[in-house]
Amino acid sequence: MTKKILVLPGDGIGKEVMKPTISILSFLIEKYNLDYVISEMNVGGAAFDECGSPIPNDVLEEAKVSDAILFGAVGGEKWDNLTWELRPENALLTLRKELNLFANLRPAFLFNDLSNASPLKKEIINDLDILIVRELTGGIYFGEPRGLVEDKDPNYAFNTMIYDENEIKRIAKIAFESAQKRNGKLCSVDKANVLEVSKFWRSVITEMSHNYPDVELTHQLADNAAMQLVLDPNQFDVIVSSNLFGDILSDIAGTLTGSIGMLPSASLDNSFKGMYEPCHGSAPDIAGYDVANPIAMISSLSMALKFSLDEQEISSKIDTAIATFIQKGFRTKDITTDNNFIKTSEVADKIIDLIDYE
Ligand code: NAD
Repeated sequence: MTKKILVLPGDGIGKEVMKPTISILSFLIEKYNLDYVISEMNVGGAAFDECGSPIPNDVLEEAKVSDAILFGAVGGEKWDNLTWELRPENALLTLRKELNLFANLRPAFLFNDLSNASPLKKEIINDLDILIVRELTGGIYFGEPRGLVEDKDPNYAFNTMIYDENEIKRIAKIAFESAQKRNGKLCSVDKANVLEVSKFWRSVITEMSHNYPDVELTHQLADNAAMQLVLDPNQFDVIVSSNLFGDILSDIAGTLTGSIGMLPSASLDNSFKGMYEPCHGSAPDIAGYDVANPIAMISSLSMALKFSLDEQEISSKIDTAIATFIQKGFRTKDITTDNNFIKTSEVADKIIDLIDYE
């Protein structure tokens, strides 16, 4: 059956990293005779400039009927003073919410050849391979009531951190199953020492662990987990956490690998349809210079093939080609150590050659 892929390059380097990714996808479609229809639309600031909304209805409708969405990055100074509804970043939250993409999977994987790009010592960081499973559509980012009260003395602002049992169970299921497919270790991160919502989170996950006797479940408080990620990251296999804590921990884990330009992510719904995007933003400081690292976006394509498009073998071919690319010494500017680097626009051909060579 024909599969639909929606391509949303967005703003800044979002556009630049999407180009090589689509070249690779087009090559794969032809080589493996894949029955895909690809449509490309504006989102974020580019969509706002085009039609006054960062996430126009036709984009949302197309996203809802697509099997996989490849999302570049959105945002930039030009749109920073718009109200929240009109800001480019609102496109992301709307897509996550409207498509019910509740599970955010962020691998933090280190190529040992790049360990000198990590801020941690080699002996601590080598062989890093963690998967962070972050709840994405609930918790404090979406909880009601929320607000800013400016007619009181003192003025105040508030948000609500709330999770119901079903929200916790569905993210925990993905985390337990991911641990089963990896090294069988799951660490749930919360603040059960101070937050009722965390105590509840912990009790629901502990209860569920009886259904997964092959997974070793541990719990850590978020502040300790942040510290442990830096002190001894290899103690972790899969980490599951709420929206807020997962946001922070996945950025720390990502930083350990040396460059944000290497980190892909998947955001999935119940039926494994999903949106795939690099963890980085639109990087206005380097946009337009052809120096962005497109590996995060290309790895995100690999995740799309694996989770939403049921092409595990082709996904592995991309992963192997990326690993070989690194082993052969190809470096983009963010990960070079000797100032020799290849441009964003040169990466696709190298990866395609490596896939073709296999
Ligand atoms: P950023 O991720 O865009 O950039 C942070 C730093 O990392 C910058 O120095 C940048 O040059 C570098 N960097 C990022 N991606 C890189 C890549 N692929 N290759 C090489 N270097 C890379 O974060 P920021 O600067 O905080 O935000 C810039 C804009 O992006 C803001 O408007 C922000 O709101 C937006 N943003 C969007 C998303 C998203 O679309 N998912 C995520 C984060 C930030």
